Parts: sequence; structure tokens; C-alpha cells
Amino acid sequence: DARSAYEALTVETLPNRLSSVEVLAGKVGPDPSVWQVQEVGDGNLNLVFIVSGPNGAAIVKQALPYVRLVGDSWPLPLYRAFYEYHALTRQAARDPGSVPELYYFDETQALIVMEYLSPHVILRRKLIAGERVGGLAEFLGRYCARTAFRGSELSMASPDKKADVALFAGNVEIPAITESLVFTDPYYDAEMNNHTDGLDPVVAKLRADVGLKVKAQQALQRFVSNTETMVHGDLHSGSIMSTGSDSRVIDPEFAQYGPMGFDIGMLCANFLMAYFSQPAHRGDDLAAYQEWILGVITQVCAVFESEFRHLWKTERTGILYPAALFEDQGHDSSPACDAVLAGVWRDAWAVCGIEMHRRCLSLAHNADFEEIADTTVRAPLEARNLMMGAALIHAADTLAGAEDVCNMAREFN
Ligand code: ADP
Ligand code: MG
Ligand code: MG
Ligand code: MG
Repeated sequence: DARSAYEALTVETLPNRLSSVEVLAGKVGPDPSVWQVQEVGDGNLNLVFIVSGPNGAAIVKQALPYVRLVGDSWPLPLYRAFYEYHALTRQAARDPGSVPELYYFDETQALIVMEYLSPHVILRRKLIAGERVGGLAEFLGRYCARTAFRGSELSMASPDKKADVALFAGNVEIPAITESLVFTDPYYDAEMNNHTDGLDPVVAKLRADVGLKVKAQQALQRFVSNTETMVHGDLHSGSIMSTGSDSRVIDPEFAQYGPMGFDIGMLCANFLMAYFSQPAHRGDDLAAYQEWILGVITQVCAVFESEFRHLWKTERTGILYPAALFEDQGHDSSPACDAVLAGVWRDAWAVCGIEMHRRCLSLAHNADFEEIADTTVRAPLEARNLMMGAALIHAADTLAGAEDVCNMAREFN
């Protein structure tokens, strides 16, 4: 049963093995012999099952002891499910309603039972299909600001923050994937890299740019040493599920304490890659849809700023920038907030450029480009994306804001 040694679930074994999990039986139906089980995992790492029955449905997500994308030659610890579970509880507390409801966690089986999001689909699929999502930018801007602020010493009591940093510091292998795959592999001939035919000249140019590599490594240095807040760690458009008007964030197994700008930077990169890939996916409405994507980026950043400033005024209960130093002495603290936000954006735009590189050059590409079957179409679009990524990394400290970034995208398009 679920309490014995770890064993990967299958569609066939799941009903019997999880029949004693009461919350699952409550959601799906009391008789496991009529449960229907479908494996829907399309990610790189884990098993994901939809379990449905007369009462409804639930999701069962189980970690595998290796990287699904690569196979058992690349082992990966099961304990990442423990961090996913803890990350989900923190995200639910810091931005209520932003993540699927958690029903059950089994540490030995590395298994999470959670709310089945329906009719939500992966945002990346919607972006490839040219669909618009109402409220998307507001949701994501608020999510990023609330999780960044409320997971930091701007808000948390210092002992609680330290305990949480210590807890998440146990998640070592998963951040190591980000450290190599995201920050480093794009800039040398790493073993698992691959890129589209025709990109060799652009790749050579990036790797010859020593200044660029310094900036990418500085971003990595901040990523590994700055435990400002709990980041989602993998906030791309495949970790967001949406209907036409409602969105949620899923899949936080890469959660760690890191820079406040990390999630929003990775997120913006994925919108920019959607933008650059659109000429291969759209017809008549190409220009309008691309502008919609840029509008989402601009608005995500604007909502992030306004929500962060609101929390600064109303929830600054941690040890950082205490009212005793500012408001209590009759001083406005908004210059301090400006300075904090400037650091957030510097980190965000550097991560944004790096993410645009790694999704075309190292392991784990994204469908936006990968599903362009004709590589003579794909390569020039990826090249625009790569060149803009480099420009972003170089300009990360000096960009005025998301409007600048969108104008840059229009120039590279
Ligand atoms: P991985 O860690 O392997 O990337 P994900 O958590 O991203 O796994 O889930 C893989 C897929 O399973 C998602 O792309 C989505 O299609 C589906 N999925 C995951 N969680 C849910 C959920 N709560 N509701 C509905 N579908 C889900
Ligand atoms: Mg995923
Ligand atoms: Mg490729
Ligand atoms: Mg995942």
C-alpha cells in the first residue's frame, strides 16, 4: 500500500495502491474499481495522473527517481516531492488561490494529490495556438510580487525566514540543474546541449562575448548566494494553467530561496520566446497577437511594481527597512523601495536573457520553437531571440523598464 517502500505508480496499479487515501476517494468516488486513470505527464521529470470517477477528479503527481526526459542514466532524488509539497503550501499562503489546492502528501511515495484544474490548459499551448487569457497579467504580476515580498525579510519574522531557508537548503540536486542547465551550459559546448542547424554563427558569437559570460556568471552568483525569498524556480509558460479568464501556477519542485527577480525574469523570457516564435504559428493576426503578448509583459511588470509598493506600505513587518528608520521619523521610505525594486529588475532582466538562451541552446527546449518543424524557418526566429537575450543581459542594469524591453523586442523581431 501507500506506506510501503517507494514504487512508481502505473495506470493499472494506482486505484488499488491509493484506495486507502480517504481524501482521494472522497474526491473521486468510494469504489476504486471504477476509477479511471490517465497518465498525462508531459513534463520533463515526473508522473502525473488524472484520476476520475463518479464524484469528480483529482491529480496524482509522483516523482520518479530519475529525469524522465533523459532516462534512468540521470538519477534525481525523490525528495524533490517534499519540496514541491512545502512550496505549494507557502505559495497558497502567500498568494491565496494561485496554486492548485493540496489534498494529500506521501513522502515515501514522493506523491502529491491535488486539485484537478479543469478546463485549464497549459499556457504555453494557448500561446502557440494564439489564444488570449483574460486577467493573465494581473494574476501573474500579483503572484510574483506577493510571493517575492511575503517570502522575504521585508515581511517574514527573521527566525521563520531563517528556518525556511534552512529547510529548502536541503533541496540540492534540483537547483544544481538550474545552475548548470540554465546559467552555464548555453555558454560552452556542454554534453547535453543541442541547437537548431543554422545557429552555429550566433552561438559562436555568444560564446566569444566574454563580457556576456561575466554577466551571466554574476547572475548565477546572485542566484546561488542570495536567499531573498522563496522562488518558484521554474516559472515558465508550461508551469501556468489557464482557461480564457482564470490562471494558476503549478509545478514548484524547483523552489528554493533565491533572488526576488528570478521568477518574473524567467516568466518574461517565456513570453518573449512566445513572441519571437509567433511568425511560424500565426497568419493574419500575427502583429496583433504579438502586441498582445508584449502588452502582457508590460502589464505583468506594472502590476508587480504596484503590488510590491502596496505591500511595502501595508505589510512591511520584517526586519528590513523598518518604519523606525523612516516613517516614525517623518521620512518617506519610498526611495528605499525604489532601490529594492531596481535590484529586482536588474536580476530579472539578466535572468530573462539567460533563459532565452538556454531554451534554444541547452537541454529542455520549449515547444514554442521546437514545434516549428521546418528548421530553416525556426533558426532565424531563434536567432532573433538569442540576440535579444544577449542585449538584455548586457543592458540589465540600465534598462528603464518593461517598455524598454518590449521596444527592444520590436526591434529584434
Ligand atoms: P513536471 O514536474 O514533470 O513538469 P507538471 O507538474 O508540470 O510535471 O505536470 C505535468 C503536466 O500534467 C502539466 O503540463 C499538466 O498538463 C498536467 N497537470 C499537472 N498538474 C495539474 C493539475 N493540478 N491539474 C490539471 N493538470 C495538471
Ligand atoms: Mg512541469
Ligand atoms: Mg532544438
Ligand atoms: Mg516540474
